[in-house]
Amino acid sequence: MELDHIKSRIAAAERAAGREAGSVTLIAVSKVQPAERVTAVLDAGHRTFGENYVQEAQGKWPDWRQRFAGVSVHMIGPLQSNKAKAAVELFDAIHTLDRISLARKLAHQIAEQGRTPQLFIQINTGDEPQKAGILADELPGFLDQCRDLGLSPQGLMCIPPEDADPVPHFRLLRRLAGDNGLDLLSMGMSADFETAIAEGATHVRIGSAIFGARDAG
Ligand SMILES: *Cc1c(COP(=O)(O)O)cnc(C)c1O
Repeated sequence: MELDHIKSRIAAAERAAGREAGSVTLIAVSKVQPAERVTAVLDAGHRTFGENYVQEAQGKWPDWRQRFAGVSVHMIGPLQSNKAKAAVELFDAIHTLDRISLARKLAHQIAEQGRTPQLFIQINTGDEPQKAGILADELPGFLDQCRDLGLSPQGLMCIPPEDADPVPHFRLLRRLAGDNGLDLLSMGMSADFETAIAEGATHVRIGSAIFGARDAG
């Protein structure tokens, strides 16, 4: 299956970058994929998945968590504040913390539920008006605000502009993380994950290269 091929490409990219084997977490992005493709990857032993929509994730992961021990589900899509409660219930990591109103809602739910999903702050590295994420300059102030709320973001996430060379965006994300004492970097998708690993990604988000095109089947 494609999963094995992607895993060996990740291992090769780790070696090429002089990085420790297993230092990169593969998030298999299962959004809108037919159930049988996802269960095939679960049957093959993979346990870390990414979803973009709270409602869709609610419809499938509670059942799969019962059937497959050790599943971890990461929210990688835009998160509406009114879905914060469900998101804290459902997800082990949230990659799209991008505004203080959401940080407040998450902090409240984390305190209420006693669950602490790993948090990544999304950075709009390309300064694109239509794209989610805070601007690079805003990060230090945003982090202070998050910490005042009792949150401890551990990493940064970006989606480079389409059709652009992703390298400057990956480098910016890495520099920002280093400058702000954050360890995790969520960057790299099907088309550019090896480049992202060379630039320090700790989490790659790969959908179509594992499961096939999302509009097929
Ligand atoms: C859908 C999605 C991915 C996976 O994209 P592929 O190109 O299929 O690998 C990764 N990250 C985010 C934020 C996504 O929405």
